[in-house]
Amino acid sequence: MTEKLILHPDRLFPADETTRSIARNLYAGVKDLPIVSPHGHTDPAWFALDEPFANPADLLIVPDHYLFRMLYSQGVALERLGIPRADGGPTETDPRAIWRLFADYYHLFRGTPSRLWLDWVFTDVFGIDVRLSPQTADLYYDAIDAALKRPEFRPRALFEQFNIEVLATTEGALDTLEHHKAIQASGWSGRVITAYRPDQVTDPDHPEFASSFDRFGELAGEDVSTWSGYLRAHEKRRAAFRDAGATSTDHGHPTPFTADLPRADAELLYAKVRSGDFSAADAELFRGQALTEMARMSIDDGMVMQIHPGAYRSHNPGVLQRFGRDKGADIPMPTEYVRNLKPLLDRFGSDPRLTLVLFTLDESTYSRELAPLAGHYPALRLGPPWWFHDSPEGMRRFREQVTETAGFYNMVGFIDDTRAFLSIPARHDVARRMDCGFLARLVAEHRLEEGEAHEIAPLLAYGLTKQAYKL
Ligand SMILES: [Zn+2]
Repeated sequence: MTEKLILHPDRLFPADETTRSIARNLYAGVKDLPIVSPHGHTDPAWFALDEPFANPADLLIVPDHYLFRMLYSQGVALERLGIPRADGGPTETDPRAIWRLFADYYHLFRGTPSRLWLDWVFTDVFGIDVRLSPQTADLYYDAIDAALKRPEFRPRALFEQFNIEVLATTEGALDTLEHHKAIQASGWSGRVITAYRPDQVTDPDHPEFASSFDRFGELAGEDVSTWSGYLRAHEKRRAAFRDAGATSTDHGHPTPFTADLPRADAELLYAKVRSGDFSAADAELFRGQALTEMARMSIDDGMVMQIHPGAYRSHNPGVLQRFGRDKGADIPMPTEYVRNLKPLLDRFGSDPRLTLVLFTLDESTYSRELAPLAGHYPALRLGPPWWFHDSPEGMRRFREQVTETAGFYNMVGFIDDTRAFLSIPARHDVARRMDCGFLARLVAEHRLEEGEAHEIAPLLAYGLTKQAYKL
């Protein structure tokens, strides 16, 4: 049988009537604010070319590792979901078959944020009013497929409909940024900017490290055989990214370890990691030195620096070998910030020209490390709950553990960090509702005046992000 799909207007608000009504009032003041998305992984080609999305499966399932990791965990082979194989071997190519398979397993997402986001997309974007199930799989497929052929579902039209003020993508150090240049040259009013993510030339353990340097030097017009040439190449690439709108850099290192080596030691270390004959400790030291150099450059060029540490990438070797990286097998690790960040903070932590936004996959660090650090150092800001913690309960835990030590003003608002373009409004809506619920509780407990909460809510939804990322 078919069940109605209805998004309750009070969803995610506190259950008791007093706090709920305060939360409702706060939410009314922020729900229609524009979306500022300063970090994420959408494809700039969508906005440069503005071609229709291919089909429901290619748009909503195949690129979303949040989704296929769950089906994989229940024994569904990734080939059946159309995930391309590294060796080019056969995988499912019929998007309707992939969609039906996904519908068969949609119940797995009960209680997860993916379910909240997807149901929002189904109702608000596509106007579907029945639940996704094996019985409604074809109805969904046909409705979404028909919609995607219409002009109002092209990437630029959706961008405008979603009320996105600015959207940042993330590109590697070797990217030529042609899509961003095309967007700039097109005269379209949508603001899509890039961000500089140089991991492939700052992390000696990155699979493309050794093969990236010729092109890195060529793109920058620098001789990268020396440490000083390497640093100049970064400076030039950062400038090219700023020309494509970038206001930030991003660093996906395994740990937030930083180092501040004497120049001669840094030169020797550079020669060593470039030779290919280096230890795990050398690699970590090089990553750490690179972060401190990035902070120095940020002070010069104003780019906001982000560290996204703590993921054990590609934990499952079978999946890595068969399908490559970013296939839902990344797992959080314990992460230490206090000692690891000290060399960088010793040098630049008190410099208000630097904005360093810290993220974590290790929630045990919120109250012990991150909130105290951000509540002290002028250069530090706390990023919102990230990845596995970008969820209603994750947001609640975050606010409860950091606010009392770091306050609201050392945070940067909500960041969706997603490649799932259609879910962006849903993700921001979840954050706005949860923040209004948290503020409502402080008001109901007489820890905050209602007028103050009405000032803070739009900051969390919009203002702090613009300010922190200089947008
Ligand atoms: Zn990211």
